[in-house]
Amino acid sequence: MYKSTGNSGSRIANAIIVPMVAVVVISLSGIFALLHWSARVSDETAEQSQYQLIAGALRLTQNYLAKQQNGVVIWDEAYHRINQPEPSQGWIYDNVMHWLYKTDGFNRSVLIDREFKLGSVYAQNHSTKWLNAKLLADLKPAIAKVRARYIASFKRTPSGLFSYTPELISTRRSIAETGVVALEGEPYLFSAAAIIPQIQSVTPRRVPPAVLVSMMPLRGEKLQEISEMSRLDGFVLMQQQSSEADLGRYPLKSPLGETIGVIAWQTSQPGTQMMRRIDPLLILAALMIAAVVVLVTVFTRQMTRRLARSEAKAVHTARHDALSGLPNRSRFHAMLSDTLTENADGETNTAVVYIDLDHFKDINDTLGHSAGDKVIVAVAQRLRRVIPESGIVARISGDEFAMVIRNCEDDVWLDFILDQVQDEISRPIMIGRRELFASLSMGAAIAPRDGNDPDELLRKADIALYDAKANGRGRRSFFEQSMELQVQSRDKMSRELRLALKNDELDLAFQPQTDTSAKRIVSVEALARWTMDDGTVVPPSQFIPVAEETGLINELGIWVLNKACAKAHEWPGITMSVNVSPNQFKHPRFVEKVMAILAANNLPPQRLEIEVTETVFAGRNDSVLKALRRLKNLGVKVALDDFGSGYSSLSYLRRFPFDTLKIDRDFVSDMNGNAEAEAILVSIIQLGKALGMTIVAEGIETIEQIRFLQAHDCHRMQGYFISRPLDACALSQFLEDFQGKYSAGFGMDLSYRGRTAEA
Ligand code: C2E
Ligand code: CA
Ligand code: CA
Repeated sequence: MYKSTGNSGSRIANAIIVPMVAVVVISLSGIFALLHWSARVSDETAEQSQYQLIAGALRLTQNYLAKQQNGVVIWDEAYHRINQPEPSQGWIYDNVMHWLYKTDGFNRSVLIDREFKLGSVYAQNHSTKWLNAKLLADLKPAIAKVRARYIASFKRTPSGLFSYTPELISTRRSIAETGVVALEGEPYLFSAAAIIPQIQSVTPRRVPPAVLVSMMPLRGEKLQEISEMSRLDGFVLMQQQSSEADLGRYPLKSPLGETIGVIAWQTSQPGTQMMRRIDPLLILAALMIAAVVVLVTVFTRQMTRRLARSEAKAVHTARHDALSGLPNRSRFHAMLSDTLTENADGETNTAVVYIDLDHFKDINDTLGHSAGDKVIVAVAQRLRRVIPESGIVARISGDEFAMVIRNCEDDVWLDFILDQVQDEISRPIMIGRRELFASLSMGAAIAPRDGNDPDELLRKADIALYDAKANGRGRRSFFEQSMELQVQSRDKMSRELRLALKNDELDLAFQPQTDTSAKRIVSVEALARWTMDDGTVVPPSQFIPVAEETGLINELGIWVLNKACAKAHEWPGITMSVNVSPNQFKHPRFVEKVMAILAANNLPPQRLEIEVTETVFAGRNDSVLKALRRLKNLGVKVALDDFGSGYSSLSYLRRFPFDTLKIDRDFVSDMNGNAEAEAILVSIIQLGKALGMTIVAEGIETIEQIRFLQAHDCHRMQGYFISRPLDACALSQFLEDFQGKYSAGFGMDLSYRGRTAEA
């Protein structure tokens, strides 16, 4: 029934969940990325500083190599011996090269003479294979630099000679260049130093020095030293680049810039280590957040689904009548609007039908509300069944339904459909074991003929329904323009009546009632009269219903009571009968008002008789009966007017102990010689008497009727034959003449028949 539930529910849910999940995912991955980035930065910084550490250690080691050479390269004897034209190889071997091997571990040495030619060569294993052109080429830049620095250390003296003045004489520093070269595929540390004299010398010429290049392998002791100096883990010498991720690499370059090996070490990666510790926590946190998100998602989905469902339900109940399941008034209005918009082109007719269940109040009153409910449900089902598929049926209020019938061909066709509706409804409805017969009054308006606005159509259908009911129950009317005129004139009349009441333009006529003898006036009935400004007399049969509809009846009724009670003083001993409409009993303080009026006019309650028709029993009548009972207990007489004209009069006699029974005019007028009518009249009189009631016959127009009623001992008689309703003045005159005549003992003089208040 609530189709859109799922969709709208998940739509609302997604509107909440999707952005929420997105925000969570984005911020989580943002945090993740940020942490990993800073870890990498800190790793890189650490590696950078470790790199610097190794570079420093290597530099220190190389400097130390140069220092170790000092003993042989800054030495007068070596300087002189080596620079001889034919130096002694043996001396060089023993005192320079082998000595360097023995004391400092330089296991390779090469001497380059002043002419830049290869002098002595030393290897601790006596091999010379290692010395090749490539190696010499690698060493050449360092040797050339040493030679140049040596030459640059000379200064010209004033005598024109050159003086050797090294940069830092006091420290006895050699002129040396250090570096790394590849030797038989292994990196070797080398130091190339100029052979210089110990003492400062002055020479006529600047000649390049002999250069001693001493080498030792990096692998082994030296590597160990560098490792210790830099305090790094996993220190190794590798031939090539390794691809292992967490290894730091320090490339060893030859003076010519070639990479001849790599020092690798286990980088301490503080960032990565931190991440290693943090990652599980992060993952845990992410999992927890994910779990929370999932929970919230599920919860939100459930909530929104439940919300959507209850919303759909609320919408359904707001649109439908709970008892019949039919759309209600507001829904009907919306559906009608839609239908009219669809057919806005005016090519097809749409009928709007108002339906009123006749006598539904009676069913409710006599059989109870649950029976009433069953009737409503049955009628709803039948209406739905009988109207065309495309039609709409709705329950407008208690016993009111409405229909929309689409593609309505013409009035005849619609009449046919409504016939079927009527037939369907008139089949008996079973309530328990009881068969009930319902009937409908219907009013129809048709679009576009009667308009295209939903409110206008509904109003016109309502007018048509009013017309149907006014013509008796079980009928139907199609809206006609003249009906609207009637409504308008009714509206006009109600406005004018209100004004007349306000301006005290209404009046009362009084119609006398005799006793059985027909010689004594015992009571008068007060009847409202309205003569308009232009002299038009509006009969009560017209303005009383209008007053009832507009609620003016309350005001009017009070006015009548007041006036009648005020006048009663003028006619002592005579009962004043006043008509009271059922609507007046709905006023919660009606009884109090009546008593106040009696008190204000100083009239004993016994002199007032109120006339009610059996319609007072329609609807919820408990309060009406209560009010009647209170009035009766206070001494006011209560008469049942128009007895026999209605629906189930006899049962009403049981429900309230009326003082007076007024037999409906129709029984009296039907009488003339009609045995059946006479029999009914007689039995009503007998029934009333048996119940201890005063019997009044009204509408007496002939002497025969009087004689018949006298013969059957009817208590009171009223009618044109005795007198028409008279105005107060005329009544006073009438009473004087009438009573005077009979007390004087004359026969019945009927000359007053023609004297009327209105005539
Ligand atoms: P009702 O209460 O049955 O009043 C009697 C009606 O019968 C009066 O009509 C009266 O003029 C008429 N009538 C009396 N004798 C005869 C007769 O011999 N032949 C014929 N054909 N008619 C006779 P009226 O005054 O036109 O009143 C019509 C109805 O209007 C009353 O019927 C009563 O129901 C209502 N009505 C009049 N005045 C009031 C009022 O003040 N309050 C209320 N609630 N209803 C009133
Ligand atoms: Ca009456
Ligand atoms: Ca009457």
